[in-house]
Amino acid sequence: MSKVTFFRGQQLPLEMHKVRIIQKLTLLPIEERKEAMAEAGYNTFLLENKDVFLDMLTDSGVNAMSQDQQAAMLMADDAYAGSATYTRLYDKLVEIFGMEHFLPAHQGRAAENIISQVMVRPGTLVPMNYHFTTTLAHITANGGEVAELVIPEGLEVTSDHPFKGNLDVDALRRLIDERGAEALSYVRMEAGTNLIGGQPFSVQNLREVSAVCREHEIPLVLDASLLADNLYFNKVREESCRDKSIREITKEIADLSDVLYFSARKLGFGRGGGICIRDEELYKKMRGYVPMFEGFLTYGGMSVREMEAITVGLDETMDEDMINQGPQFIEYMVTELDKRNIPVITPAGGLGAHVDAMRFVDHIPQNEYPAAALAAALYVCSGVRGMERGTMSEARDAEGVEPLADMELVRLAMPRRVFTLSQVNYVIDRLDWLYQNRQLIGGLEWEEEPEILRFFYGRLQPKSDWLEKLVAKFREDFGDSL
Ligand SMILES: *Cc1c(COP(=O)(O)O)cnc(C)c1O
Repeated sequence: MSKVTFFRGQQLPLEMHKVRIIQKLTLLPIEERKEAMAEAGYNTFLLENKDVFLDMLTDSGVNAMSQDQQAAMLMADDAYAGSATYTRLYDKLVEIFGMEHFLPAHQGRAAENIISQVMVRPGTLVPMNYHFTTTLAHITANGGEVAELVIPEGLEVTSDHPFKGNLDVDALRRLIDERGAEALSYVRMEAGTNLIGGQPFSVQNLREVSAVCREHEIPLVLDASLLADNLYFNKVREESCRDKSIREITKEIADLSDVLYFSARKLGFGRGGGICIRDEELYKKMRGYVPMFEGFLTYGGMSVREMEAITVGLDETMDEDMINQGPQFIEYMVTELDKRNIPVITPAGGLGAHVDAMRFVDHIPQNEYPAAALAAALYVCSGVRGMERGTMSEARDAEGVEPLADMELVRLAMPRRVFTLSQVNYVIDRLDWLYQNRQLIGGLEWEEEPEILRFFYGRLQPKSDWLEKLVAKFREDFGDSL
């Protein structure tokens, strides 16, 4: 196992790979970072990557590839139809998940588009543990309604529940009793729940959800985009999985589901996506959408090179030493932040560390975007780019009223196999400094607020000269260090 205990009792995550291709990084002086942040309208999405030191915005499409993936990409078979590359990917998916049918798509949301168009009946509900942004958009666009049934612990910031992504099975039964099974288009389970801190579900919970679905003949759809992290947690936190291989756990999870889709920007360390389907009728209904929206059935909008990389990446996902690096680094980071009393979502999940801005900068009201302000302050004092997940990410209603988010988080994603432990230590140290100086952080206001998806393109500005004060304090404490 790749967690090593040193003689003083300290446990350190230890990478079971070495880095053989590198990309040079730049760390601008704080004055230039402040300038770059201003040019980006205090929105980390608008920063240019050349101005970023550690990019922790997302884990999507930025995971490091292995030498085997790179080698396979050179062997790709370029053909519009019937490419051998497609056959290799198809065979790998059947080997791992055991579902007979597969439809390729250019990324995860494209798979959601097809599933929602075919499976969501207008006026019905789609219960799920928790939604993802694009999932919700596709289900509502097709006339469905999302019913969120995550267990109450899932929405608690601090908890020691090992599976905060579990679905409340009693709530699902009650919903079926009240509305009837016909009122449900399908049930969706998301592995490694993205929006609530990368929290996993247990195999036991999936067994129970699956049993209810089968009893009422409701299809069970699994979003496997973040399955790798979920598998790691099943293996280390769930008694019944301890003696099983990752492959066996995966097969059990797939066997409990009827449809399984994924973003290969996360699962398989590549870029693409697709849908595995057990039922032939359902497959035939979905099939027509692939040439219409994605590309021919044997590539679905993916390049053959990426498909080769995904095939190898899926195999690597079945190797515990390959999937544990992300969750172990995240656990290390969360533990170290917690030790310094820095408010962070616990227990550590997959995907990244989630800093709780509601407590970190509790003097900033929610309508001054505490998570966005903290993300901007962190970039300025470290060059680290995180993502706001709070009120700024919400949308105004028809009357223009702004809903306040349940949680104000700064997500620091941990792209898989990309960062070293010293880089993680650097982030911890800068967050620690920022926490000591949190009273200096002030709020933000809109300079330009788009109507749709405002968090992606919107521009903000500080409500006072708080960033000048923060930079001055940094210089006082760090001298001429970057
Ligand atoms: C990223 C993600 C998606 C969407 O995938 P894209 O490839 O970004 O379109 C869907 N579900 C989950 C859980 C995700 O994390």
